[in-house]
Amino acid sequence: MHVRGVVQGVGFRPFVYRLALEEGLTGFIGNSTDGVTIEVEGPSASLDSFLARLRSEAPPLSRIDSIAVREVAPANDTGFRIVASEVLGRVSTGIPADAATCPDCLRELLSPADRRFRYPFLNCTNCGPRFTITRRIPYDRPQTSMARFKMCPACQAEYDDPANRRFHAQPNACWDCGPQLSLVAADGAAIPATDVVDTTITRLAAGEILAIKGIGGFHLGVDATNEAAVMRLRRRKHRYGKPLAVMVRDLEAARAICDLSEVEEKLLTTPARPIVLGRRRPDCAIAESVAPGIPWLGLFLPYAPLHHLLFADSRLQALVMTSANLSEEPIAIDNEEARARLGAIADAFLMHNREILQRCDDSVTAIVDGAPQLIRRARGFVPLGVQLPLDSPPLLAVGGHLKNVFALARGRFVYQSQHLGDLENLTGLNFFRESLDHLMRTFEIVPETVVHDLHPGYLSTEWAKEWARERGLPLIAVQHHHAHVAGCMAEHGLESEVIGLSLDGTGYGLDRRIWGGEVLVSTLSGFARFAHLDYVPMPGGEAAIREPWRMALGHLNHAGFDVESQGILNLVGAKQSQARVLRRMIERQVNAPLTSSCGRLFDAVAAVILQRTEVDYEAQAAIELEGLAVDEPYEIGAASGYEMELIGGNWSTRDAMKISAGQLWRGILEDLRAGVAKPRIAAQFHAAVASAFVRTVVQARSATGIEQVALSGGCMHNRRLVRLLREGLESEGFEVFQHRSVSPGDGGLSYGQAVVAAAILSKQNSQAVV
Ligand SMILES: [Zn+2]
Ligand SMILES: [Zn+2]
Ligand SMILES: [Zn+2]
Repeated sequence: MHVRGVVQGVGFRPFVYRLALEEGLTGFIGNSTDGVTIEVEGPSASLDSFLARLRSEAPPLSRIDSIAVREVAPANDTGFRIVASEVLGRVSTGIPADAATCPDCLRELLSPADRRFRYPFLNCTNCGPRFTITRRIPYDRPQTSMARFKMCPACQAEYDDPANRRFHAQPNACWDCGPQLSLVAADGAAIPATDVVDTTITRLAAGEILAIKGIGGFHLGVDATNEAAVMRLRRRKHRYGKPLAVMVRDLEAARAICDLSEVEEKLLTTPARPIVLGRRRPDCAIAESVAPGIPWLGLFLPYAPLHHLLFADSRLQALVMTSANLSEEPIAIDNEEARARLGAIADAFLMHNREILQRCDDSVTAIVDGAPQLIRRARGFVPLGVQLPLDSPPLLAVGGHLKNVFALARGRFVYQSQHLGDLENLTGLNFFRESLDHLMRTFEIVPETVVHDLHPGYLSTEWAKEWARERGLPLIAVQHHHAHVAGCMAEHGLESEVIGLSLDGTGYGLDRRIWGGEVLVSTLSGFARFAHLDYVPMPGGEAAIREPWRMALGHLNHAGFDVESQGILNLVGAKQSQARVLRRMIERQVNAPLTSSCGRLFDAVAAVILQRTEVDYEAQAAIELEGLAVDEPYEIGAASGYEMELIGGNWSTRDAMKISAGQLWRGILEDLRAGVAKPRIAAQFHAAVASAFVRTVVQARSATGIEQVALSGGCMHNRRLVRLLREGLESEGFEVFQHRSVSPGDGGLSYGQAVVAAAILSKQNSQAVV
């Protein structure tokens, strides 16, 4: 049998070895180019049982995509062997994702009798670092940052024994032969300690900030129950709003902090151990300033042995563990680099001497409308491939501008990079280049086409053009919101036309305006714009994103309000001189680009309801607005007085319909004046937006007959909006599709770009044949 999927470097061969012995079968297993090949011989009942158990008992980190079975003549083998890879051809080039400490290793870590008792780097084939410690393929110890540590005889014996859990566990190590911890001050001087973990706990419990080296980079750790300590971290980082992730000992501790659903608990405990956004319990002990102004907390569980040791006694209940970087810079990984960059933030550094070769932030997830959604796809997921519904030639899709992630595609798979952060400066670009080199080496993909966003000003676009020119490669530009929709389609294998709802922050449109509230009739290779939110000015351009009051004035001016009147100025917290300048910018069309962005509509409404005049992190205003409505009932269409108007549109001439927010604004302002509770207004606003898009999609169906709707774009992180849309569309008889394996936001953009390019190229090829 030939097994395809994630079956290398995840303990699959020792698992099959044990299975064959238990079933009394003879034969062999070996890695092959795209999976493993197994030959087994024995009584047919045992063979059936073997095959069934192969699926049902496969190791936790493996993923079986297919098993092809073929009968061959008996070879009269006498035992079961694991054969060398070379026998079966070139070894597959994959590297598994990093995985959290498994239950067996955790038991050893905490057992005084075990030879690895309290050893902070223990691992086995079922767990441990992979992607972040690998320099190049094949995934073998000499190609990893474990190369410098020579295994002791005891570790070597485990490594060589096919029946052992550590058979070919590349990062295998123990106290005698593996990496070690050290505790140092910012100047590099060792801090005296008999047990560095114990001293670290003492310091954290006393409110100190520690830079802690982990799997994909350094964290800044601080006691999450200590308000003064968390505020000190915020002051030193100059970040006051952005929510900080909290690590807790175990599921029980997590339940004491957040009200967790069954699916949320399941997500928290997957081997990827992502951060999960949970609803914070009002009585929990977490400091207010960890996630100010929102009802959710980002929780995660220990995933490295070191993390488990930090929680081994009861001195620490919960730790803020936030990526050690300054603002949106890449996470620090190198010991020297960390001390240089974080010297002014951390009181001490808990380091180790195993190099991190790939920066990789923690992944962030949430349960959206009952199922997991990736907000940031990084550690634990990268570099696992996501399937494509069609064959792709080798290509590179460079992604967007914010939250950049690039993608390499080949055949039926797309490999997305880890979250790289904003591509705004050289540091970001260097991280991009480093990661691209690594991923190209890892998968031996040499791109033949380069795909980029339509926006000519993105650093990623400029870079893509330059890179393609140097190599003489063709370029394909993909419209931002089409990429979003195509990505969602491809995840579900949809190849024929769908109605795509691309509700988003900002993306460059075909008419050079800033799109983001789009109803597209879309295939994988192309689209037409059925409808969009009516254009409004974005006074100050980019500044309107950082200062939502500008967006509010842009919207209100467009809706016919006098933005210099005292009532409006009070509402958005602006001075009359500011409003006058903005009005002039709009009238003269200077630095006031037009946008149909849905994200910006949320910003504008948040500015008015919450007086949120400036934001400290992307989408802060919209997130707070969703948070404000968190306890309000879900009612679509009940938003009387807020109804958005559908204007014009003619599908036969491809004139796009406009969705106007004028009446919505009048309704909101009236309710504010009448003293209606703000959470109620926020909920009605969500319902009005959802209802407007549902009505538009119904119109699109009348025009096109299409019954399938794909939901995409950054606004699909909004749980209330997604649920209202899905329920509204389903009640109208639509089939609704949502992102599951990639992010609906710009972290998923490069996947969508790869999909569109692959579809365009395959069309060109088939036309060439005709
Ligand atoms: Zn393990
Ligand atoms: Zn050892
Ligand atoms: Zn986007």
